Amino acid sequence: MARYWVFASSDANRARLHLGSCMYCRDGHGPARRLLVPGGPQTWTPFATVEAAQQWMDQLHYKDKSLCKTCMGEAVDGRQPASAGAGSDALT
Ligand SMILES: [Zn+2]
Repeated sequence: MARYWVFASSDANRARLHLGSCMYCRDGHGPARRLLVPGGPQTWTPFATVEAAQQWMDQLHYKDKSLCKTCMGEAVDGRQPASAGAGSDALT
């Protein structure tokens, strides 16, 4: 069962990585009020792991690629903001 989904929209030049449980993903169905057009420019692709989903998204050529801030807002792969204050006590 796919746990992660990548939304890709060639007309909007955008890709987003979602959890299947996200309200914007709904296991690849998308937002309830925005139905996909069959064969249209917007697609959902399922992945079993976040690594596989990110690798696939990395090779897309869209300008705007990121994790969904609603369901993937916290770092899921150990990436942390560069401003983390490790070692700051050396300044005291
Ligand atoms: Zn999401």
